[in-house]
Amino acid sequence: MIVIAVANQKGGVAKTTSAIHLASYFAEQGYKTLVIDLDAQGHAASALGISKGNGLFRLLVEKRPVGEAATPARPNLDVVANDHTAELVKERVSRANFREFLLASALETAASYDLVFLDTPPSTDVLHITALVASDYVLIPAIMDFLALDGVGGILQAVRELGMFPNVQPPRLLGILPTLFDRTTNETLENIRRLQQALGAEQILPPIPRDTKVREAASFGKTLWEYAPASAATIGYTNGSKSRNSQGKTGGYLHLAEIVAELIAFK
Ligand code: ADP
Ligand code: MG
Repeated sequence: MIVIAVANQKGGVAKTTSAIHLASYFAEQGYKTLVIDLDAQGHAASALGISKGNGLFRLLVEKRPVGEAATPARPNLDVVANDHTAELVKERVSRANFREFLLASALETAASYDLVFLDTPPSTDVLHITALVASDYVLIPAIMDFLALDGVGGILQAVRELGMFPNVQPPRLLGILPTLFDRTTNETLENIRRLQQALGAEQILPPIPRDTKVREAASFGKTLWEYAPASAATIGYTNGSKSRNSQGKTGGYLHLAEIVAELIAFK
């Protein structure tokens, strides 16, 4: 089992979108895949067209096994959904012993899954920390505005600080994912260059274009694979280069999924 947290303390940077598209891609490829929604907004379920629910409450507060907390969303794809009970979950988890480890322990009942994606809240609260502790990799979607480096730096620092906990292996950086990317503005390209300089070009994944099909697909509870398989956000502007840092020439969730598949060595 490989656990990937999709994290950024900012909202609206495509965390949920990225988590469900990677998850549904791998499910379609035949891997048994789970999405755990740690955000009270419960968007992971609604973006997949299933009802919100108290799956996270059942998992972390009632301590039921994943099999009793998850809902099927597609073949090979289950979701531990979330809803308004998230506030109660947060309160209970923050008062629990070994709270940073609660999700990691809960995942001991998820051994039948090949891949687990953690969709995290836009915060640095206890649920965010428990997600980072439970994960092997962290993927950081970010909008390439002038504050991007700030937000990304915050997450990387939180990951480094996990080293302070005994028995915690901090997650490896899967990459920074520029999202809602607009290739026509110099500012966006300049901010990508700044991130490449600060973190190393190989850490910056091919950007996902801004594309109205993403919002439409979510409003119908469908994935891009189902709703718009040939759109820019799915296959990028051009559909060729394999380079990770191609300055926005390529991208799309298909390209990202192929890169992630190589990184986690399923290919
Ligand atoms: P987060 O989970 O970080 O808050 P979401 O994944 O919910 O972000 O995305 C925020 C909003 O932006 C949603 O309405 C989503 O449909 C939309 N969105 C995400 N990615 C794109 C994209 N590439 N192009 C256009 N809209 C997008
Ligand atoms: Mg979200």
